[in-house]
Order: sequence, then structure tokens, then C-alpha cells
Amino acid sequence: MKIDTFTGGLFETNCFFIEEAAILIDAPQEAAEWLRKTGKKVSLLLLTHGHIDHVFDAAEIEREHGCKIGLHRETIPMVTDREFFRRFGFGLEVEPVRKPDFLIGETESLEINGIDFQVLDVPGHCPGSLCFFDKKERVLFGGDVLFAGGVGRWDLPGGDRELLFSGIKTKLFPLGDDVKVLPGHGPATTIGRERQTNPFLS
Ligand SMILES: [Zn+2]
Ligand SMILES: [Zn+2]
Repeated sequence: MKIDTFTGGLFETNCFFIEEAAILIDAPQEAAEWLRKTGKKVSLLLLTHGHIDHVFDAAEIEREHGCKIGLHRETIPMVTDREFFRRFGFGLEVEPVRKPDFLIGETESLEINGIDFQVLDVPGHCPGSLCFFDKKERVLFGGDVLFAGGVGRWDLPGGDRELLFSGIKTKLFPLGDDVKVLPGHGPATTIGRERQTNPFLS
């Protein structure tokens, strides 16, 4: 499986394009431009969560690619309400997406475009925070839950430290030490490395 990574925007947010499935995971600022330049065509955009740095280019990509957008129910207001982030004091608006119509929740099996994902709902960084686990490749697209040597912030609106830590330990760790984690920020890691060395979790 070929996965291309692009990092964009002020917060250096990662997005991932799974070539064979034409699936893009997250839509940071400048992702639309990167897709244009590299000639990639997106059939489905999956959002790990609704924070503005992950959804910034979602509407533009939806418009240009005519793709579906798969997201958690709790992410909908963050991508459809232009003023959502302003109300929390961020001086940013998000361009609303038109059809947030493909709702995703926790499930053992979500088969899309030939890939079989297990989907884990791990709130605590953000309500409606999804991790997409490609069972065959044993790769976890984790969003802002577990980072190399860190975890997602829990001090933003809707954050909850206990939920975050218990979600990582009870849902992500059991996936197996060999699982590769592709997080929303920073370099790739593995479940095993974080289970053994992550200062927040030991
Ligand atoms: Zn986030
Ligand atoms: Zn983020």
C-alpha cells in the first residue's frame, strides 16, 4: 500500500493519501494545492476530527474532487458552521462543506474502496475523534490522539484528560505493539514504542 504524506498549515498538520483507494485522511491548509500539484484525485475524504487545522481545506477539496466526506456526527458543526471556531476565540473561519453525509462511528469493520478499517472512537482531545485502523496493513491513522512521545492536548473545548488516556490504553494499545501509527502531527511511531517509552503513558 502506498501512502503519501503532506504536512500543511501553521500547526504543521499531517494528511495522508492512500493511493490505491483514493482516500485522503484529513485536510490541512494547502492540502488542496498539494493534490492539484501532484495530480491526485480524491474519492473519499475521511476526517479524524473537526479541529480547524485538520479540516481547513475540506470544502475546497470537496468542491474540486466531488468527493464524499466521512466524519463523526460530532464533527458536523465544526465543518458546516462558519463561525464555530470564532465562538471559541479563534480568529479563523472555516469554509462550510456542502454534504457532510457519510457518518462514521466506532465499528469493527468499515469497508471502503477496498480497505477494511476498524474505526475507534477516542474522545478526550476533541469530541468525535476517530482513529482509522487499516487491519491488513496494520497502520493506524490516529489523528491527534497518540503522538511520538506525546498525546493530544486535552485543554481545548470538549477536551477530557481521563477520557483521552483511558481511550489510548483500552482501545489503541490492544491493537498490538507492531502497529504503525501515523499521527496528525509529527513523525510516525508504533504502538509498542509509545506503550514502552511515552512519558505521558508509562
Ligand atoms: Zn486536534
Ligand atoms: Zn491537530
